Amino acid sequence: MPELPEVETVVRDLRPLLVGRTIEAMWAGPAKLRRAWKRAWGGQVVGSTVAGVNRRGKWIIVSLVSRDPTGSEKTPALPVGSRLTATLLVHLGMTGQFTVAPTADPLATHTHFTFDLDDGNQLRYRDARRFGSVEWFPPGTDVEAHLGEKLGPEPFGLPAQPFRDAVRASKRTLKAILLDQSVVAGVGNIYADESLHRARLHPETRGADLTETECDRLRKAIEAVLTRAIESRGSTIRDYVGGSGMRGGFQNEFAVYGRGGEGCPKCGAEIAVRRVAGRSSHFCPACQRR
Ligand SMILES: [Zn+2]
Repeated sequence: MPELPEVETVVRDLRPLLVGRTIEAMWAGPAKLRRAWKRAWGGQVVGSTVAGVNRRGKWIIVSLVSRDPTGSEKTPALPVGSRLTATLLVHLGMTGQFTVAPTADPLATHTHFTFDLDDGNQLRYRDARRFGSVEWFPPGTDVEAHLGEKLGPEPFGLPAQPFRDAVRASKRTLKAILLDQSVVAGVGNIYADESLHRARLHPETRGADLTETECDRLRKAIEAVLTRAIESRGSTIRDYVGGSGMRGGFQNEFAVYGRGGEGCPKCGAEIAVRRVAGRSSHFCPACQRR
């Protein structure tokens, strides 16, 4: 399932391929995704120009400069986040792929959206399991606020004290805290397990039981693991590919995730797998004591 490093890789790949391009036509397939696409949105998207491609948590935010209603002149490019830009909000769900390919290339099965660009390429959204979504929001929508209700801060450069306070205020397990996007955005099952191993913390330890020093260790571990994963273009377990169709490489660097029964890279002890917060959790019983 794509988490922050995978979504960030897609965004970095797509940005140079999309910014400045005008969408000349679009097609939305009949299959229902997690959130429904409204027919009327198509008329708004066609004719608009991409002003920016950004990420918030696991969401992709494509900013669009709306078509000039008079049709006389192309609207000049506006800064990202302008109240005048419309938004295409995309979530990759479990198996989503958001890529640019030559329009002439054959469409893969499970392709649900195509957007024809003015350079002979096509932006495509493919999703076998259909847990993802593509939505459009008109200019003036505060998409940050729309997401902010459930999304915590980005994990980079997090100030120490608010993170300590948020973790220590919770009686839930560290695994549950990391999976909940409200304390820190973008972390899922893979990077929760990898971060907890790096911080030498057991996934079932309660947030309220952590010292401030342990909170700081966890915060730094999350940032270090995610940074390294982005450098490796994310992790490809099954379907994930970047915006140019290239696979990730971080799956080759996992310390614990998916390595149950194998040796811990730090101490050699056998990595354990246990269900925590409803998800398979991989950890080293020697390095990560409760
Ligand atoms: Zn170990």
